Amino acid sequence: MKRSELFATTSKESEAEFDCRSAELAVKAGLVHNYGSGTFGFTHLGRKVLDNIEEVIRDEMDEIGQEVTMNILQNSEMWEKSGRWKNFEGDEFFTLKNRDNRDFTIAATHEEASVELVRKKIRSYRDLDFIIYQIGRKFRDDRARKGLLRGKEFFMKDAYSFHADREQLQETYHEMIEAYTTIFEKLGLEFSRVSAENGSMGGSQSHEFMAESEIGSDTYLKCVDSECRYGAKDLGEEKCRECGSELQDVSGIEIGHLFKLGKRYSSKMDLTFTDEDGEEKDVIMASYGIGVSRLIAAIIEQNNDENGITWNSKVSAFDCSIIIARHEDAAVEKAEELHDKLSERGLEVLLFDEGSVGEKFAESDLMGIKRKVILGNNYLENDVIEVEKRDGRTFQADFEEIKEVVSS
Ligand SMILES: [Zn+2]
Repeated sequence: MKRSELFATTSKESEAEFDCRSAELAVKAGLVHNYGSGTFGFTHLGRKVLDNIEEVIRDEMDEIGQEVTMNILQNSEMWEKSGRWKNFEGDEFFTLKNRDNRDFTIAATHEEASVELVRKKIRSYRDLDFIIYQIGRKFRDDRARKGLLRGKEFFMKDAYSFHADREQLQETYHEMIEAYTTIFEKLGLEFSRVSAENGSMGGSQSHEFMAESEIGSDTYLKCVDSECRYGAKDLGEEKCRECGSELQDVSGIEIGHLFKLGKRYSSKMDLTFTDEDGEEKDVIMASYGIGVSRLIAAIIEQNNDENGITWNSKVSAFDCSIIIARHEDAAVEKAEELHDKLSERGLEVLLFDEGSVGEKFAESDLMGIKRKVILGNNYLENDVIEVEKRDGRTFQADFEEIKEVVSS
C-alpha cells in the first residue's frame, strides 16, 4: 500500500492533553480518532492493528470453541430473569426506552444473552460441554480515562462455556488459561496470571491476566522470575507459589478475566439438562473476557520509545516500510517494483511516496513499523537494499534475503 492511499492521519504535535503515553501515541500515530468521552473511531491503520489482534485471538479460540454473534441491543426481560436488571439500571450500563416505552440496554456483557442463545441446543448431558465466543463492541457508562484503556464503547472478546459437571468446567477453565497465555505471549506482552476475588459477575473462582504497566489501576504481586507467570492479589504473600521466587509489588492493566459462574445464571434463567439418570439439573457455566481495544493500550504502554510505537510483528499493520532516499523517476519506479514483489510474497508493505526523507523516517517509526527498507544509491546501482530496524541498527540485504529479514 502507498502511504498517500492509506487512511491514517498522523500528527507531530499534541492537539490535546493526554493522560498517558498510549493514548497520546494511538492518536498521534493515526490509529484512532477520539470523538470524546471515551468513544473512539479507528482509521484504516487502526483497523488493521485491531484485525491483527483479533486474528491472534481467533486462532486460539477456534481451537476450543465456536464463534457466534449476540445481540447488542437487548430488552430487559432476560436481565429481569437473571435478576440483574434492578442492579445495573441507572448505574454503569446504558439503558433506554423505545417508542413503546419498553426497557432496553446496550449490552455491556452477554451472560444472559448466551443462556438464551444456547437454550434450544441443550437438552441432555450429551449436548454438553462446549464453548461459544464472540468479538465485538460493548458499552459501559464508565468514567472515561487513559484513552483506549477505559472507554464507554470498547471491543471485547467474550466467551461462555456450558458444562454438565464441575470436572468438565475445570478442564475447560484450564484450557482457556492456556489459550489466554498463548494469545498474550503472541502479542508480545509482559503479563501475569493472578488468581482473583470475584466482582459483580458472581461465581466461586476467577483469574485475571494482568499486563504490567504504571498506568494500570490494579496493584498485584508478580513473580520476579521472567519465565514465571505467577501473580497474586493478596499483597501479604511473600513467595511465588509456583517457583518459590520473590514477589514484586507492581501496577498493571487487566487484559483478560476468567470467571467460574457455576449455576448463578442457569438456575435463575432455568437453563437445565437431563443427566444420565434422567434427572433435570442446572447447567454449569463460566465466562471469559479479553479487552481487545484495551490490549492496544497495554501493548503500546509496554512497547514504545521516544519516536513512537514499537509493535511486534504479529500486531503491526505492516511488516516493513519502503523509504526512497532519492527523488528521480527511476528510483520511484524501482521502489514500486520492490513494493509489488514483496507484496506478492505475502508481506504487508507501506511505500512512503510523499514527504521528505526525514518525514518518512519519522512517520514510519511513529506508526511502529519494525523495519524500514531504504532505497538509496546502493540499490539503484547494485540492487543492495539497506534495512533499518526500529532500534536504529542497519544491515544490508539483497531481494532474496529481504523476506526472511523482514519477517524475522
Ligand atoms: Zn514464580
